[in-house]
Order: sequence, then structure tokens, then C-alpha cells
Amino acid sequence: MDITPLGDLDDLVVGGGVVGLSAAWRLARAGRRVAVADPAPASGASHAAAGMLAPVSEVGYTEEPLLRLGAASLERWPAFAAELADDAGLGSANALDYRADGTLDVAFGADDLAALDELAAFMDKLGLPVERLTGRECRRLEPMLAPSVRGGLHAPDDAWVDPRRVTAALLAALRHLEVPILTSRASLLPSGLPSGLPSGTAVRPASSGAVRLADGREVGAGRIVLAAGAWSGELAGVPVRPVKGQIMRLRSPQPLLGRCVRGMVHGLPVYLVPRGDGELVVGATQEELGFDTRVTAGGVYELLRDARELVPGVTELEVADVVAGLRPGTPDNLPLIGPDATSGVTLATGHHRGGVLLAPLTAAILLGEEPELGALCSPRRFTNRDER
Ligand code: FAD
Repeated sequence: MDITPLGDLDDLVVGGGVVGLSAAWRLARAGRRVAVADPAPASGASHAAAGMLAPVSEVGYTEEPLLRLGAASLERWPAFAAELADDAGLGSANALDYRADGTLDVAFGADDLAALDELAAFMDKLGLPVERLTGRECRRLEPMLAPSVRGGLHAPDDAWVDPRRVTAALLAALRHLEVPILTSRASLLPSGLPSGLPSGTAVRPASSGAVRLADGREVGAGRIVLAAGAWSGELAGVPVRPVKGQIMRLRSPQPLLGRCVRGMVHGLPVYLVPRGDGELVVGATQEELGFDTRVTAGGVYELLRDARELVPGVTELEVADVVAGLRPGTPDNLPLIGPDATSGVTLATGHHRGGVLLAPLTAAILLGEEPELGALCSPRRFTNRDER
């Protein structure tokens, strides 16, 4: 086999979105020899993402495991952001637009208010900090909210970050650590059994895998980590599908909001995320249309129509950018992290609506640091239900 001389790689990460780049950075920092393959790093869902780090507001009642993963990853974010900013030579986490000023979920009608009450009770039961607010209290926090807002739920610990800045910083940190980025599409080659890396070690595992790059070169490594987002399903035959999201960035001379604001309008969720530079992100549609990344008039219309219900002032702002990204969805909304018996690779994919939030935890699981949470994400749940 013509193996490209990259040295003796411990991990080859296929896919350079926020999940793959974070994994590569943490693995390299832990002393492992790592390379990344991606024809266009940081161009996938991570380029579209709003960057909310909001496990409380993102979760439904049936999704307690996802909430546990999100809460654990949110705890990791402050140190992750500070170390990343340092390794990328940026000074502080402010350069990533990391902010921990909370999320406000607002309600308009009686049904929405009842849903917020139930959500508040559920969070209380789990010991998570949330406050139930009246409409007036919501407007005291966020004066630009519509007068029709009748109540809200404040999750003070939620945070957010600019994912485009995060992936740029990850690429810079990887350059400083001399991690090769192979700008090429990869396809998986048949390999031995999954490596099953022991907890927290940097030992080269016994079994190995390999990929073929678009130019025909083959690259081997102790472990192939598949982090190709929505494309992972096609590459490894795992249950990951693309879920389209259209999202818009508006430009404001001064910030309209002090925190993330979310709500249900016309039965659809809409959110607004303020950035430090005055940008206001409005998201996002959720569409099952396969690998379609067209921005449509209907998508833009819905986003603006619903955002205006929450904060009427948004229609005055300049449109800076509208894109569509593909979330990597799984049948149970939980990510797939760990060895996959069928393809022989280690999966780090299927993060659906929470890949930015879950990136630090995913890297920790790949390092064997979180065995209990890692078990919740095991790909075995789809290949061997008895072991779940
Ligand atoms: P991606 O970022 O899609 O990266 C996959 C990479 O794999 C790409 O760079 C691609 O080029 C590469 N690739 C594909 N095929 C190959 C191949 N054959 N060989 C090599 N490389 C390959 N999450 C949050 O936590 N908070 C949010 O607020 C949030 N908002 C979102 C808003 C929208 C509109 C969307 C679409 C998503 C949002 N998400 C959010 C979800 C989040 O964006 C994803 O979960 C996350 O980006 C997934 O990261 P990833 O690295 O797995 O995939």
C-alpha cells in the first residue's frame, strides 16, 4: 500500500468542522500524532451555526440524555475557549465572541406559557438553574422585545460563541501544533477491528485503519476518526442524515439584545443571537430535503416574519449574510461517538443541532475522559440494541 509519509499517525480525523477540528486539537494537545483530512475545512454546518451553547433551552422533555451531554459540555466551554484562544495566539476568549449571559425563552400565547411552566418544572427537577419571568420582567431584561410577549424562561448559565471564529482559531492552533491539514476528500478503506483506545492514554492502538484521498494517495493511522458531519452517513453507512437549516446574519449599529432570545412563533422555533460586533443572527429553518443547500425566498421570509414577532426592530437592520447548512441528524438526536463495529472507524458525528455546544465533550470522550457520558453516545445502540 502506498502510504503517504506523515509519520506514524495515531489519529487521522476525516472532516474539519467544529467537531473534527476540536477533536484533532485536543488529541494533539494530549500528545497524540494527528492529521486532518477535509477538502474545505470549516465550510460545513459549522460555518452556518449560530453558536448557542444552550443545553437547557434546546432540549425537549424526552431528551434527558441530550441535556446531560449538553450540560457537561457547557461546563467545559470556559476552559476550552480560554485554552483555544491561548493556543491560537488570540489572547482571550473574547476573541471567539464567547459570552455567558444566558438565554431568554419567551412565550406569546397560553399554550406557550404552559409549555414554559412544564419546562421550568422539568429543569427544577434536574437541579438546573432557570427562572420563570412575567412579560414585564422579560422586557426589563430585553427592552426591544415585542409588547405581546407574555412571559419567559431565563436560563442564566447558557452561553454562546461565534463558530466561525472558533473554527478559524482551531485551524490556527493546529498550525501552531504542526498538525497536517490534508485539503482533500477522503474515502474509507476497509480496516481491522475498531481500536478501542484505553482511557486517557496516548498509546498507539494495535489495530489500524486507512483512507484514500481524492488524488489516490492512501493514508493510514492507528485510528480513523470520522467527523464528516452530514456526509458521515454516506461515507460509513451509519444512521446520519442531513437536516437543512437556513440562517441569516443582520448588521446593527448598536446591539439590539443583551442575550440570546428564543420563542415559538406560528408553531415554529426562532432565535436571535447577538454578537459583540453588532451582528444579530436569526435562525433557523429545519428542513428534511437531503443535501439541498439552496437559500430560498420562503426560508428568508419565514425567518424575518418570525423574528419580527419577537423583536419588531429587526426589520430596520441591514442583511449581512444568509446561508444554509446541513446538520448531521441521527434517529434519536444523540451523537454517535466511539468505535463503529460495521465500518471499523471511530465515529464523532451526528451532533445535529448541538455540535458547537458538544465539541469539547466529544473531544473528551475520544480521549477516554468521560466513559459514562460516552456510553450514551455509543454507536452500538444502533448495531446491538441489547448492549444499550
Ligand atoms: P460540519 O461542520 O458539517 O463539518 C463536516 C466537515 O466534513 C466539512 O468541513 C466537510 O467539508 C467535511 N467532509 C465531508 N465529506 C468529507 C470527506 N469525504 N472527506 C473529508 N472531509 C469531508 N449547534 C450548536 O451547538 N449551537 C447552535 O446554535 C447551532 N446552530 C445551528 C444553526 C444552523 C442553521 C445549522 C445548520 C446548525 C446549527 N448547529 C448548532 C449545529 C452545528 O452546526 C452542527 O452540529 C455542527 O456544526 C456539526 O459539526 P461537524 O464538524 O460534525 O460537521
